Amino acid sequence: MAETRDHCAKPNLLQISEAESRIQSAIQSIDDQQVLPLKHCLNRILAEDITAGADIPRERNSSMDGYALAFSDLKNNNRHLQVVETSWAGKPFTGTLQPGECVRIFTGAVLPENTDTVIIQEQVTRLVDTIHIQAIPQLGDNVRHPGEDIQQGTTVITAGTQLSPAEIGLLASLGIVSVQVYRQLRVAFFSTGDELRSLTEPLGSGQLYDSNRYSLHALLEQTGVIPIDMGVVRDNPDHLRDTLITAASISDVIISTGGASVGDADFIQPVMDSIGQLAFWKLAIKPGKPLVFGNIQHIPFFGLPGNPVSVMVTFLILVRPALFKRMGKQAHQSLQIQVPINHTIHRKPGRQEYQRGVLSIKNNQLQVTPFATQGSHILNSMVRANCFIVIPAQCHTITAGENVFVLPFDVDL
Ligand code: AMP
Ligand code: MG
Repeated sequence: MAETRDHCAKPNLLQISEAESRIQSAIQSIDDQQVLPLKHCLNRILAEDITAGADIPRERNSSMDGYALAFSDLKNNNRHLQVVETSWAGKPFTGTLQPGECVRIFTGAVLPENTDTVIIQEQVTRLVDTIHIQAIPQLGDNVRHPGEDIQQGTTVITAGTQLSPAEIGLLASLGIVSVQVYRQLRVAFFSTGDELRSLTEPLGSGQLYDSNRYSLHALLEQTGVIPIDMGVVRDNPDHLRDTLITAASISDVIISTGGASVGDADFIQPVMDSIGQLAFWKLAIKPGKPLVFGNIQHIPFFGLPGNPVSVMVTFLILVRPALFKRMGKQAHQSLQIQVPINHTIHRKPGRQEYQRGVLSIKNNQLQVTPFATQGSHILNSMVRANCFIVIPAQCHTITAGENVFVLPFDVDL
């Protein structure tokens, strides 16, 4: 075992788990908070614990349209009751029932006193003001009880939760109109490269559109931060230095793409070394090896590689969890599942790999197919894939049929 590890170790590359823990310990959560109306809270991070001020449901009510009755009235197999009143949702019947009486009731309506069971309308025959019960119900059928959903006094959502539509609905059900959230994170980002052109410019030979700035912008919006687009920086150390210093003065996190490698036109690492604190450079990750992490004037900085797939992989695996921490979000375990792979993969060990794959179902079994072309410039692989296949650094061949770890992308229902 030790022999395999020695054989695979790349001493100049930092392992991902080590990079993750260095990033997490370097990143501080922002403190600034604000009170926001519920409607503006989607994706924001809650900065307070929310305690329920009331039971939900508040009162006993019916979960069906039918008839509310006292179960004891059905003893001796009595199947006839008199309908005396109606209890509507929002307009309850507040009178008292006599033995042998029942109340027409609709979904959500409060159960009258003396009743404890609702029989659904499909199980009765109605004759003017009486009902005949076809099948005797169970005691308590179709009754919702106070506090069944939420109990008064319990903490229903904790600080650090990112608010999704479900949390927003739950807060509204408690009558909470606004909540304390962290302010939105500002993330400055730019691309680097003499070859990059904006989308409206004509392309000369060797030039290409600056697609990374668009995928990064979209990734940042999806994460719930405010993206600050600082454009393209040419392969020029002075320009790069000025841009990084400006970025540090207007943002909470800085991200660049390109120029992080060791070529003569790659200035991210030397410039970082001169104006900031470099924490690490070069990771045992595939794709995405040339990755710079550090800070400039205490603002965390990620210098991502230039290849379009590497940008997305390193953002999703390393940057997004860091942004979450900086936003004040609670840490969470990502959903990693084990699935049989249906193709054999031959590879060189040494770097943890995030292959793009397609999860599908065959004969009722989940399986994963690696995308045929795994180059870090094949952005199409990210478009077609619905998951990453995570291959540990030390792995050589993976044979078809073996189980692999898979990280599904956001799941469409
Ligand atoms: P670099 O890391 O700067 O050496 O770039 C690696 C590769 O990614 C090169 O082929 C670049 O042309 C390409 N690349 C760099 N930046 C971008 C960008 N913003 N959009 C699309 N491709 C890029
Ligand atoms: Mg470049």
